[in-house]
Amino acid sequence: MQRFWHWLAKRRAIVQVLSAIGLNSYVTQAVTKGLPCPALNCYACPAASFACPIGSIQHVVGAQHQVPFYVLGVVGLVGALVGRGSCGWLCPFGWVQELVYKLPIPKLRLPNRFNWTRYVVLAVLVFVIPIITRETWFCKLCPAGTLEGGIPWVIISADIRQMAGTFYWIKLGILGGFLAWMSVTRRPFCRWVCPLGALWAPFNRVSAMRLSVDQDTCIRCNRCQEVCPVNIRVHENPNDSACIRCLACVRECPKSCITVGTLNWSLETDRGG
Ligand code: SF4
Ligand code: SF4
Ligand code: SF4
Repeated sequence: MQRFWHWLAKRRAIVQVLSAIGLNSYVTQAVTKGLPCPALNCYACPAASFACPIGSIQHVVGAQHQVPFYVLGVVGLVGALVGRGSCGWLCPFGWVQELVYKLPIPKLRLPNRFNWTRYVVLAVLVFVIPIITRETWFCKLCPAGTLEGGIPWVIISADIRQMAGTFYWIKLGILGGFLAWMSVTRRPFCRWVCPLGALWAPFNRVSAMRLSVDQDTCIRCNRCQEVCPVNIRVHENPNDSACIRCLACVRECPKSCITVGTLNWSLETDRGG
């Protein structure tokens, strides 16, 4: 089974491309647009096939003043199965951040300190303010929404182009700030801001898919942290809440001591198997 994970890890970029196309394929909109997708993919994108879970949550709690059981249930199911795996494999905006980081300019490696800010964004911009104002405030400011929905609509629609005012330029400024940050730091939006990542983060410790490190084989070379897109000390905390299950550490560990397990496998391990 571990061979399969190594094989898959080498093909992650292919999965990310296919996911970006699949989530924005347009042709399935009539059937799928009302369903939440397992990624931060803007509903307003002209080609979006699904609804963004964060947009849906705000709509239900804000406009309808109801509890979003259905969307939270779907998000919870994905989290229970793979933790933040969708972030590493399916989310187009996560992939955009990885592409921008490839720019050949000096890099700034930041520790994960203060990454609790994503929970503040989740609580304040996705729940509290939408409940008070009945407006989807995270969507209004979301850089993924500006990139996938705002800019394309301004390009293709003369009417929307005429409506674009000061607030549109503020949104472009926010997107520009994040693009600059993600060109020097790995996945900053995922680590410090994204409320969908915040919803999935606690699941990493209990999800069916999990990582494990054989401490007897590990030589503490720290190669796993060097390749990790979210800067985790994998050999110390393989199921950290920031892990996006990209499997780069599994692929790169020189001793092959990081393994991917399932819940059953882990229970057997916990029993000493
Ligand atoms: S944390 Fe990053 S990869 Fe995950 S849903 Fe948010 S933007 Fe996408
Ligand atoms: S790369 Fe492998 S051997 Fe090196 S510190 Fe990480 S888990 Fe240990
Ligand atoms: S710990 Fe491993 S699987 Fe998780 S994000 Fe880092 S490199 Fe990817």
